[in-house]
Amino acid sequence: MSIGYRLAVLSGVFLLLFSSGCATTRSEPVPVVVKRTQMQMGTLVTITSVAPDRQRAQDAASAGFQEIHRLEELLSTWIATSELSRVNAAAGRDAVTLSRDTLKVLEASLQMTRLTEGGFNILVGPAVEAWSILDQQQIPSDEILQAVRPLTDLRSLHLNTAERTAYLAKPGMRVDVGGIGKGFAADMVVAVMQKAGATAGVVALSGDIRTFGRLPGGTKFPFGIRHPRREDAVLAFIDLQDEAISTAGDYERYFERDGVRYHHILDPVTLQPARDCQSVTVVARDGLTADGLDTGIFVMGRERGLALVERLQGVGAVIVDRDGKVWVSSYLKGRVRMNDGLE
Ligand code: ADP
Ligand code: MG
Repeated sequence: MSIGYRLAVLSGVFLLLFSSGCATTRSEPVPVVVKRTQMQMGTLVTITSVAPDRQRAQDAASAGFQEIHRLEELLSTWIATSELSRVNAAAGRDAVTLSRDTLKVLEASLQMTRLTEGGFNILVGPAVEAWSILDQQQIPSDEILQAVRPLTDLRSLHLNTAERTAYLAKPGMRVDVGGIGKGFAADMVVAVMQKAGATAGVVALSGDIRTFGRLPGGTKFPFGIRHPRREDAVLAFIDLQDEAISTAGDYERYFERDGVRYHHILDPVTLQPARDCQSVTVVARDGLTADGLDTGIFVMGRERGLALVERLQGVGAVIVDRDGKVWVSSYLKGRVRMNDGLE
């Protein structure tokens, strides 16, 4: 537990670099910036809320945290009564009725699978468990991996949109939206914050971040993309407005054995940790897309991943490949500033 907690805390991929200072002319009301942090969804959640007055900024932030709590009760596989836990518990037996939000995450996940040519797969859970990345740090035998392989077959996940149900056809199958759920939550939080009167803000669930609007004074929200091999070092800087940014990396949860790094993003084809990238950062208009793509592209690898990003509207990526070389897609060229402070 303590290790998991510590790693989760250290795993903030992005350093929020902005301060709450602002400058406006005297005649206008000065927007207030409130920044609060809580532990939710097994990670550090920071909400920055900008509103015309402090009360509204606070209320919007509170509404945001409440929304994450609501979604956690639907999506978390750590909560036995969540909708997804009930889907998993009924594997091989029954279909389970879903809320619209849960159905939406599952449908978006399947769409992400198609987009990333199978790289993104919400059924890899049993294989992730075979690796026990955090607990036992074991390298599973081929037999063990072959035994769980049928459980990762997406054809055995039956979603019925009209009836709003999900059914896992084989016992032991498990849905795990760890690779996309935080981006989805960030989108939902932005909607409730805007409804509560926030004019701008940032929702950061560890490295899955969504922004809306601008800081008082008119500047965009500045972020640092973390260096995948140097703890607490920033690789590059980028400013965002009304965009999401997400990073998947091999440096958050991993162990090393004989000089090889084993981490928590698995290639669904080999059921081995994906090997081609050290980190994949995706910028998109919404968090669902950014979070789903970072994991899926991490699996696809640099070449196919960049080719995909170049085809998508309003999507950009910064990829650090296995050799540490940095690749910036055309959408982000001129927007990403490399950190010259690194020697
Ligand atoms: P995090 O911010 O937690 O590191 P990521 O977006 O990097 O999230 O996704 C990693 C999580 O996604 C893993 O912890 C695991 O639960 C799940 N996962 C691992 N491999 C895949 C995959 N190929 N497709 C979808 N989800 C995956
Ligand atoms: Mg992801």
